[in-house]
Amino acid sequence: MQQPLSANFRDMSERHAKRHLIGDAGFAIALLAVVCAASYFFDGAHRTAAVIGSLFSLSGYILLAGVERLLPPAGPRKSTRRWWMHLHITLAISAVAIPVSLFFGSFLAGVVAKRLSLNLGLIDLTFDKSYGVLGLIAAVILGAVVWDFFYYWYHRALHKSAILWQHHKMHHIDPEFDALTALRLNPMEDVLAGFFVTIPFTILFKGDSTSIAEAGIVNGMILYALWMSKVINHSNLRMQFGKASFLWVSSQTHRIHHSRLPEHLDKNFAAFFPLWDVIFGTYYALNGMSSHPQASKGTLI
Ligand SMILES: [Zn+2]
Repeated sequence: MQQPLSANFRDMSERHAKRHLIGDAGFAIALLAVVCAASYFFDGAHRTAAVIGSLFSLSGYILLAGVERLLPPAGPRKSTRRWWMHLHITLAISAVAIPVSLFFGSFLAGVVAKRLSLNLGLIDLTFDKSYGVLGLIAAVILGAVVWDFFYYWYHRALHKSAILWQHHKMHHIDPEFDALTALRLNPMEDVLAGFFVTIPFTILFKGDSTSIAEAGIVNGMILYALWMSKVINHSNLRMQFGKASFLWVSSQTHRIHHSRLPEHLDKNFAAFFPLWDVIFGTYYALNGMSSHPQASKGTLI
């Protein structure tokens, strides 16, 4: 069903546009305080990971959101007022995402496993540390491939279930697909991802990527690069990998997923590895054509 942007949404945009820059900075500091306060519910290692991860993530998102405005866009670009409004959304979601993910991910996975008398990580995906950095990269990629399998089906369910779509549509109704779309998420998505993705993954598989707090600097940086690629894949940039696009998601491959064109509906669900879309029949190849598909006007409801 198609419906134009609501009057309420436009009113909200206008109100945010009137806020002063000092107010925006105060908002960011307040949210940072929320992250620090929330992190005290976790032990030392998780607390450090939550704060450092939040700071790195935020700076990466904001840097990319600024850089993409200096380069040729692939599609419609946000007005300055909508860019600021979406920056607020990104800051707010970032403040809740990490504590929520930690609680509904690793913590609940441990509780469920204990209840079922299971050991976490039944299948060992870790690599021998003697392989060094290359071994770590291979281990993280292997873990990400498996994680993306669970995410693929969760994401597909978000689109196919009328109830789940009500949570996911906040991400899709942004008519200007860019880096700030990446975290334009209903926080319920993080809660549900814990049950659909993190808990089954953590119970079934043991990998170097399952615990951010114990990852260490090198592994942490690899994980950071992996997660940043999820933001880059939402950027309003003319980035694609041509015939190799089925190996790794690019912004143009994921733009297909956000496109309103009928032929792009329910395509390209994978977060990192489009191979899952190829295997399960939802891959839409760029093939050098429709390389910059535009989002049509209107709102998916
Ligand atoms: Zn989606």
